[in-house]
Amino acid sequence: MAAFKHRRTALERVEKFLSEIYFTDCNLRGRLFGDSCPPASLSCFQTPRRIRYDEAVRQEFKPAKVGDSFGPTWETCWFKVELSIPPAWAGREVHFVWESDGEGMVWRDAQPVQGLTKEGEKTSYILTKSLKESEPHSLTLYVELACNGLFGAGKGSMIAPPDPDRRFTLSKAELVVFNRNVYELLVDLEILLDMAKLLGEENQRSFHALYTANQMINVCDVTDPSTFPAARDLAAAIFSQRNGESQHTIHAMGHCHIDSAWLWPYEETIRKCARSWVTAVRLMESNPEFTFTCSQAQQFEWVRSWYPGLYAQIQHFVAKGQFIPVGGTWVEMDGNLPSGESMVRQFLQGQRFFQEQFGQICSEFWLPDTFGYSAQLPQLMRGCGIKRFLTQKLSWNLVNAFPHHTFFWEGIDGSRVLTHFPPGDSYGMHGRVEEMLKTVKNNKDKGRVNDSALLFGFGDGGGGPTQMMLDRMKRMSDTDGLPRVQISTPDRLFSVLERESSQLCTWVGELFLELHNGTYTTQAQIKKENRECEQILHDVEVLSTLAVARDSAFQYPASQLQRLWRLLLLNQFHDVLPGSCIRLVVEDALQYYSEIRSAGAQLQEEAVQSLCGDLLQPKAGSTESTLVLNTLPWERTEVISRTKPAKPETLALVTVPSMGYALVREPLPPLQPVAVRKQEDGSVAMENGVIAVCLDAMGRLTSLRLVDSERESIPDGCYANQFALFDDIPLYWDAWDVMDYHLETRKPVITLLRPLEITLAGGLRGSASFSLQVGESSTVTQEIILDATCPYLRFLTQVEWKEAHKFLKVEFPVQVRSTNATYEIQFGHLQRPTHWNTSWDWARFEVWAHKWLDLSEHGFGVAVLNDCKYGASAHGNVLSLSLLRAPKSPDATADIAYHQFTYAVMPHRGSFQDAGVIQHAYNLNFPLHAVPASSAECPAWSAFSVSSPAVVLETVKQAEDRPEAVVVRLYEAHGSTVVAWLQTSLPVEEAMLCDLLERPVARGCLPLEQRGVRLSFTPFRVLSILLVLRR
Ligand SMILES: [Zn+2]
Repeated sequence: MAAFKHRRTALERVEKFLSEIYFTDCNLRGRLFGDSCPPASLSCFQTPRRIRYDEAVRQEFKPAKVGDSFGPTWETCWFKVELSIPPAWAGREVHFVWESDGEGMVWRDAQPVQGLTKEGEKTSYILTKSLKESEPHSLTLYVELACNGLFGAGKGSMIAPPDPDRRFTLSKAELVVFNRNVYELLVDLEILLDMAKLLGEENQRSFHALYTANQMINVCDVTDPSTFPAARDLAAAIFSQRNGESQHTIHAMGHCHIDSAWLWPYEETIRKCARSWVTAVRLMESNPEFTFTCSQAQQFEWVRSWYPGLYAQIQHFVAKGQFIPVGGTWVEMDGNLPSGESMVRQFLQGQRFFQEQFGQICSEFWLPDTFGYSAQLPQLMRGCGIKRFLTQKLSWNLVNAFPHHTFFWEGIDGSRVLTHFPPGDSYGMHGRVEEMLKTVKNNKDKGRVNDSALLFGFGDGGGGPTQMMLDRMKRMSDTDGLPRVQISTPDRLFSVLERESSQLCTWVGELFLELHNGTYTTQAQIKKENRECEQILHDVEVLSTLAVARDSAFQYPASQLQRLWRLLLLNQFHDVLPGSCIRLVVEDALQYYSEIRSAGAQLQEEAVQSLCGDLLQPKAGSTESTLVLNTLPWERTEVISRTKPAKPETLALVTVPSMGYALVREPLPPLQPVAVRKQEDGSVAMENGVIAVCLDAMGRLTSLRLVDSERESIPDGCYANQFALFDDIPLYWDAWDVMDYHLETRKPVITLLRPLEITLAGGLRGSASFSLQVGESSTVTQEIILDATCPYLRFLTQVEWKEAHKFLKVEFPVQVRSTNATYEIQFGHLQRPTHWNTSWDWARFEVWAHKWLDLSEHGFGVAVLNDCKYGASAHGNVLSLSLLRAPKSPDATADIAYHQFTYAVMPHRGSFQDAGVIQHAYNLNFPLHAVPASSAECPAWSAFSVSSPAVVLETVKQAEDRPEAVVVRLYEAHGSTVVAWLQTSLPVEEAMLCDLLERPVARGCLPLEQRGVRLSFTPFRVLSILLVLRR
């Protein structure tokens, strides 16, 4: 009978038929589950440790019941569940249903079989799809319940510090009959309801869906399953009405973003991986088309060592092409702060792991959640066998909408990668109609490409896809009015995009995230240790390689270095190095850094002993001397502090050749000693023949001059080295964000505790020290140091930091006019504007840099160098370095500590390139190593040098798997096209270009000439060379 249908009542009729809340006594939802029965027995034991199954099942289990609660936070409760399925359920689908606010893992026959997380819509373990008499009706399961939720245990809000005393309740544990036919109808109706609602009244297809749903309810008697097929046929008829050829295609891929540590510690992540991935494997067994993209080699390695049975199943599904490793990196690292070499190692460790474990490297770089992407990444990807990149994080931009979803991204050297942002702006979709429509509507490259990605599955805390998500999308595979939805793979998507790429636009330079700019500064100790450990591993590799080259009996510590690199790379995860993690994670991270430092010191000592042992041995009649080692690729003349056995520390001016060493007996006299004098007004003047400075009683620079040109760096009436304190209260993401309005709260720090006093009177080194009070109760103590011959003034800074929601910076107003400032990035530099002309300019009010930033006009400039800071800005003529923050979430104690760090200011003539700013920033970060020696004479020795100051030899290491070969990595640092000669005193037999994975490149053989190896560079080009040593 045709009847008038009121749109709203028709819609709500369908809603009520599906409702979990209303009319469940008579609606379809109320029939989803049939009979139920409790477990035959339930018992448990609790432990503060995360233990293996074998250990767990040997413990004494005590009776437990539904309704009991467990805790506190981070403990683990193991349950023994004995089940007896009623024989009357023959032929029925039987589920074990488990509901708790903690994350659970079901174990059966000593293997993990199902992750159960209520927040991730996973509460059922399917025991049988159709109970047979021959099946065992009695069985024992174990459930490992973690006392934390999907997102940890934040007290009051997700990102608040964890509540240490939270209890987790077991709210359901039972056997139930699952009515699959009811479920299928529910999914049909849900899709039709969504189509009816979301396609809108102007679309006839909306009414088509609505009237079909209405008619299905008419024919469906919920008490009589024999009426269901007729209802399902009505749905099938509408779902099978096809699209036209031009319809957009969505490539849906299962995904599960698992933060390697965030609101939970690393150890819990290991279990999160197992819970999430075993669930994905179960879905693959019953859905052969289901694909699951999975990144982070470290997580695979965790599962390999903790869950070998599960890992074997994963390997099986990788081989079948369903479980798809992506990304190619060790972890999904931060995209801004890791050094160039660290980024290379992310790929080297990751791709080698994937090759070794699965027989193939990844072809897509995958970083969906990281807080911005360095402009050096395209070249590094290309060097690691990757031409494709996927992220979506730029959809979080606070100010400017990024103009593309599919485009070519071009890095500072001109390398390009095809880049795709899933237009639904998420990596955790649920397969809903709404998301499909958003994906099409939001796509900014309509008309250029007609395919896009959709990543579905619960993420961040793990979880992953559900059967429901898959069942939704099956119905949408090709239905008129909706985009086509295919379960696909990254390769299929990118292959289509590559074919269609002729109309795509290009974005040049960094992918800057206009949010989370506080992550350049938060958790200063982590940042400092990261920088230091990068330096330590660099030095250990250089010295160990030289040791092997000089004495083939020396064992290169390849496996120790791999272990230490992997610890460093793990800590570069995108919530650890950025500082957006809980205290437990900070403690783990600092522990890993301390392991790197102590093992690194040991390895360095062994390498130095091997390299120069005979110089260090006491010999009869020899005089005391100092061995000085330089791990940087240029000659250095610097003041070092020299320790002699049983004598006070003395200073010495030394010259050491590039990547080599020199023995110092009598230090060089300085050409011009440092002069320090206190003036009547309390200010202190220092001069070393290169620069001359004047400091007021508060340690502020009132003058900074280049001696030979008399050029003044500080504008009249301005103070450089001016500390400033800002209120720092973001909108929500406390550890992550610093908002634009903090700039309006600037308060210069001018409370003097101890005025500037001279601490070293000059000669080789002059220095002066002072203290300030900062905020309520923090203090800054600074020693300002000028060394003989050194072109920069150093600020050795100590801060007792006790603030809350404050931001400390130091400012250098300089007498330089330029609309752009230059910032060091990985293997190069880039420019950002010093003005706020457009919204794109002012959205970058807080940016990141590595070892230096510079403001130059023609012929003159000022650079600010640092040894562990990353946050910076240059507005107008003021260069600022961001020093410390004090957020309270997710770590209430973040940065409340004693801090020590160094920065420096370097005025220069000419360009920063010609003035050697880049080299001096390296020098500040890679101190010379001075070791007491006893030999009298030994010629200075250099292993490597490079003919052009534009080229930096960054890395010297043993080749992976090739003990007879050395890999050296160089980059063009000036932004110029140049030919450089690499000279070496090592016994090199053969030289060839290789990629960043150390694979020789075709026709990459390099002739060995008298002047060395000839290398051609274009701006910011990174070259890796395999040097095969003569044995
Ligand atoms: Zn993440």
